[in-house]
Amino acid sequence: MNESSRILIVDDERHNIKVLTEHLREEYKIMAAKTGEQALNAVQGPKPPDLILLDIMMPGINGHEVCRKLKADNHSMHIPVIFVSALDASDDESHGFELGAVDYITKPFTPAIVKARVRTPIQLKQKSDLLERMASIDGLTEIPNRRNFDGMLERELRRAARNGSLLSLIVMDIDFFKKYNDYYGHAEGDDCLRRVAKALTGCMRRASDFAARYGGEEFAVILPETDRHGAMIVAEKMRLGVVQLNIGHAASDVADHVSLSLGVATVSGHQDSSPVDLVRAADASLYKAKETGRNRVFFG
Ligand code: GH3
Ligand code: MG
Ligand code: MG
Repeated sequence: MNESSRILIVDDERHNIKVLTEHLREEYKIMAAKTGEQALNAVQGPKPPDLILLDIMMPGINGHEVCRKLKADNHSMHIPVIFVSALDASDDESHGFELGAVDYITKPFTPAIVKARVRTPIQLKQKSDLLERMASIDGLTEIPNRRNFDGMLERELRRAARNGSLLSLIVMDIDFFKKYNDYYGHAEGDDCLRRVAKALTGCMRRASDFAARYGGEEFAVILPETDRHGAMIVAEKMRLGVVQLNIGHAASDVADHVSLSLGVATVSGHQDSSPVDLVRAADASLYKAKETGRNRVFFG
């Protein structure tokens, strides 16, 4: 929330963009688009706006149409839209609300009105972003949680199917962690989970790699466009990364430090696998890693 919110101003007249920017730039980061097409592109970028001020009458795609498209797309449907227009016929106003806009500002406007109208939807957007973040991050380790993982695995499997690419999954489980808790106490156990999570994320090199706390003392890592060989290398790096943390585990039967067992599975996008199939395959590998001695990587 420290970073200031972004407002996208969409208007075919440069002058209008300039005036609105002057009113708002002290408090917000301003993005501008001169056409509906540009606006639709801007929301697909890596830093989408938190609010859109949308002119109605524009050549090409008009504001109403832009709003309709924004609200029909998962990626942009949560961005609040305020129409800004000289049209003050109540018909247009109600049409805007029907399309999902949160407010309507008529030109000419005063700086105070614009600032006041923008404030509430921005605050609500910040709160819902925070809630969304809290609902997808594990409170203890601060890495993505199971819910987040489930969504990501589905999306990545769909992407692999579209591109016909490979997708690997690693599931891992801390060895004798119940004994760790019994021996060192639950607070130390929590601390161990945090350190393990940090070590795992430190082993990832690609932006598309994704690590989550799967539950309890289990973690899962999604590796898009990664074959069996690549996944084994990452898994072994993670195993070693945790060994090298050198967290003493006097009660472990396999080592004198905390260790992980890891199971790897790889699918091709052509295989039409479900998330359940892939998790099941990686779980079976993990079971083998446990069965054959723990503190190791297994690919079934
Ligand atoms: P194995 O090597 O077969 O995996 O043995 P294990 O003891 O690790 O497996 P088991 O599933 O019996 O125990 C998992 C333990 O993880 C039990 C539970 O108390 C602990 N655990 C799960 N979540 C947390 C947590 O959030 N904090 C702490 N401190 N412990 C947790
Ligand atoms: Mg377990
Ligand atoms: Mg365990």
